[in-house]
Amino acid sequence: MARLAQTAGLTDVQQEILSTVRDFVDKEIIPVATELEHRDEYPQQIVDGLKELGLFGLMIPEEYGGLGESLLTYALCVEEIARGWMSVSGIINTHFIVAYMLKQHGTREQKEHFLPRMAAGDIRGAFSMSEPALGSDVSAITSKAVKDGEEYVLNGQKMWLTNGGTSSLVAVLVRSDEGHPEGTAPHKSMTTFLVEKEPGFGEVRPGLTIPGKIDKMGYKGVDTTELIMDGLRISADRVLGGVTGRGFYQMMDGVEVGRVNVAARGCGVAQRAFELGVQYAQQRHTFGKPIAQHQAIQFKLAEMATKVEAAHAMMVNAARKKDSGERNDLEAGMAKYLASEYCKEVVEDAFRIHGGYGFSKEYEIERLYREAPMLLIGEGTAEIQKMIIGRRLLEEYRFQG
Ligand SMILES: Cc1cc2nc3c(=O)[nH]c(=O)nc-3n(C[C@H](O)[C@H](O)[C@H](O)COP(=O)(O)OP(=O)(O)OC[C@H]3O[C@@H](n4cnc5c(N)ncnc54)[C@H](O)[C@@H]3O)c2cc1C
Repeated sequence: MARLAQTAGLTDVQQEILSTVRDFVDKEIIPVATELEHRDEYPQQIVDGLKELGLFGLMIPEEYGGLGESLLTYALCVEEIARGWMSVSGIINTHFIVAYMLKQHGTREQKEHFLPRMAAGDIRGAFSMSEPALGSDVSAITSKAVKDGEEYVLNGQKMWLTNGGTSSLVAVLVRSDEGHPEGTAPHKSMTTFLVEKEPGFGEVRPGLTIPGKIDKMGYKGVDTTELIMDGLRISADRVLGGVTGRGFYQMMDGVEVGRVNVAARGCGVAQRAFELGVQYAQQRHTFGKPIAQHQAIQFKLAEMATKVEAAHAMMVNAARKKDSGERNDLEAGMAKYLASEYCKEVVEDAFRIHGGYGFSKEYEIERLYREAPMLLIGEGTAEIQKMIIGRRLLEEYRFQG
């Protein structure tokens, strides 16, 4: 199965990490994923295993107790994990985005306070931009922070927090007009607050309620929640970076690396769908031969494998670009867009190859079929990716006439 999605030029350390993760996925995740998903059960044992492997600190600098690895290493690990079960990659993803935002934008005190315990997996992160009335249009956020002495008072409702219940640190984006005169552009009057809380549901801190899990069609096991702030008091030293008005940019920076991560998830799920399809096609016989011997099915397999390769190459390219210190919004947008669309198509083809059995909950492809659509939405829909890609192209190819 290792022929597809190879990555040239990896160091020995990267190869060793990946082989350990692949082994863990094959032994500890794939055998239990579908059963846990059907029960919508949080994979505590798997999470404990990931903690032991140090995966929660993979990209956190060594000085804060992490492994200090690159975005590429991280994305390749996520690809492996999503191949096993996409929900597990979701458990890591929001943690990774919050750790990344702290590393890039946090004050020294904030880094020292949070990163070592995040690297150990003892503090786990979630991030919250979306609200009931908005997702794509982040500038329309209505949740608000008002300064009161050395504290801020936060009010508003948030929606769709991946790991909202299980996390103990949420990076929350709200409007904060203080210090920003009327008429300031919306994205310049937003602030990210680092909100610590108890894991769980109900009132997890005075003024902060996590009502319960949203019941989803797929992507089960990992909790997705609302978050309600009603007079939530946050100390001024928990403004990310110590200065208000920078939240929009901090979040967009986090989402940019998150997009590589979602692309990697699409690659992993597509790989698994291909594996399932190519195996089933050689076992199932119709008209006197394995269906893999019918040209129509072979063509499907050829298309699926080509998509797996193309998505992997674009995802690796986007990760390497960010690792080199360059702006990668164009590459990340393209990789996220292509990998999530291809993932859905490859999963659908694998489902068709399974015939009626693909519709049975006994077959893994049934789970993948419900999981793939989430990747079309999370970290920005296809339309939003195309807006980013289009804008960047017009910058790069400005008409000079
Ligand atoms: C399972 C799950 C987990 C999530 N986890 C998180 C999380 O952890 N944190 C978080 O903050 N958010 C999270 N989200 C929210 C997610 O980021 C949003 O759902 C997503 O950004 C889309 O926003 P929306 O649902 O409000 O759709 P809308 O923005 O209302 O869009 C609806 C449709 O209109 C299209 N559209 C919107 N604007 C335009 C335009 N200008 N031009 C053309 N088409 C447009 C969209 O592409 C889409 O097809 C999660 C969502 C899901 C489903």
